[in-house]
Amino acid sequence: MLIVLLGPPGAGKGTQAKTLAETLNVVHIASGDLLRDHQARGTDLGLQARSYMEKGELVPDDLVIRMILDRMSEESGRQGAVLDGFPRTLTQAEALEASLEGPGIDQVLYIAVPADELVRRLGGRVICRSCQRPYQQDSAPERCADCGGELYQRDDDRPEAVQNRIQVYEAQTFPLVEHYRSQGKLKELDGAQAIEAVTRDLLAAVAA
Ligand code: AMP
Repeated sequence: MLIVLLGPPGAGKGTQAKTLAETLNVVHIASGDLLRDHQARGTDLGLQARSYMEKGELVPDDLVIRMILDRMSEESGRQGAVLDGFPRTLTQAEALEASLEGPGIDQVLYIAVPADELVRRLGGRVICRSCQRPYQQDSAPERCADCGGELYQRDDDRPEAVQNRIQVYEAQTFPLVEHYRSQGKLKELDGAQAIEAVTRDLLAAVAA
């Protein structure tokens, strides 16, 4: 089973993808988490990606495609995957589709959230350095409630980068909504609701 979670930055894809993957017992593959992990480990890919990520630009397709396809082949023994943050361009979507055998992507779940709500969420977000769990600054604990990790604000959650990420999303990633709608694979959900309500809708969409 292969599920793609699509949506703007701040839509809650990471949180929802984690729950969905646990519920379906498949692997959660998050391109942003993998790239941050490469940066933390100081790999070549991490160094190459850093300047793009800091500005809220997309990391070049060839780098991200290789990283994700490698990860998917490492996890090929699993029942399936939830992809979170990939694909983000039509080139990435085509590379993914070309790499798949059989029915390909089962479902694309599109979490829609209005832009003003995204700015509010991202501007107030801190995340755990270890497990990447997000919190809202005004209600965040001292350290991560799951793993005790340090909480910090991502460089690309600063106001200048947030605006850029939303524009980049609209120009480069939003066209994927039509791409998958025309394939009959897209389901749209209201991501402005509370986290639990979005989870309920996602699980219902997957089961339908
Ligand atoms: P995220 O954690 O999904 O918000 O991603 C953080 C940043 O990582 C993005 O702003 C991009 O710079 C980079 N990134 C993550 N996924 C991709 C992707 N599929 N293609 C290109 N860049 C990506």
